[in-house]
Amino acid sequence: MRIRCPNLKCRSLLDVAEAMKGKELACPRCGCPFHAPEAAEEASNTASAAPAAESLQSQTAVADLPQPAPTREESPAATAATSPSRPGWDEYFMRIASVVALRSNCVKRKVAALVVKDRRIISTGYNGTPRGVRNCNEGGCPRCNSHAPSGTRLEECLCSHGEENAITQAAYHGTRLQGATLYSTDAPCLLCAKMIINSGIVEVVYHQDYPMNEGALKLLREAGVAVRQFQV
Ligand SMILES: [Zn+2]
Ligand SMILES: [Zn+2]
Ligand SMILES: [Zn+2]
Repeated sequence: MRIRCPNLKCRSLLDVAEAMKGKELACPRCGCPFHAPEAAEEASNTASAAPAAESLQSQTAVADLPQPAPTREESPAATAATSPSRPGWDEYFMRIASVVALRSNCVKRKVAALVVKDRRIISTGYNGTPRGVRNCNEGGCPRCNSHAPSGTRLEECLCSHGEENAITQAAYHGTRLQGATLYSTDAPCLLCAKMIINSGIVEVVYHQDYPMNEGALKLLREAGVAVRQFQV
């Protein structure tokens, strides 16, 4: 007897009798778990399968079957909902950005940015010395490795910023950023704001304020880029 997988996307035909024998209560094609009584009910609605359905129900009664999860990842309702244990999109991307920041080689601070389009990450960047240059944490940037107070001698710094690297990384791979959203662990500086505007990014979501970033945020807004702070 064959029934359909209950996954709305899959709907492949399953051989229930075979599945019951092996107690494989999952669709072999999409991995979707299915409820045996449900399967029996669906099968009993098919006139030609009625005798086999009775046989299945009796097997179901004796088999100690595990219950499937109440919602399935693939169901449209489950996809739309955000439960307390399931992060929303802003939190999802911001948490990923914080992991990307761990790759930073700068001794001063660790910053990262993601560029996202249609809920897909199309570029990432973290701060550090340019490609082919000794890493900041190996002495590559004299300014970062000096005792320059925070926010001073910035023009001497050799480290590229996380946002800058997310944008130049996209250029390196030939990826267009027009219409995308940038998630950043820190609010962008003035130089990064100019790059964000001219790369066609239309929204910036940042986690923490960067000192002296008011001018950058003002410029972004003036250029029509939506800016908002999101704290995880
Ligand atoms: Zn550095
Ligand atoms: Zn530096
Ligand atoms: Zn910057």
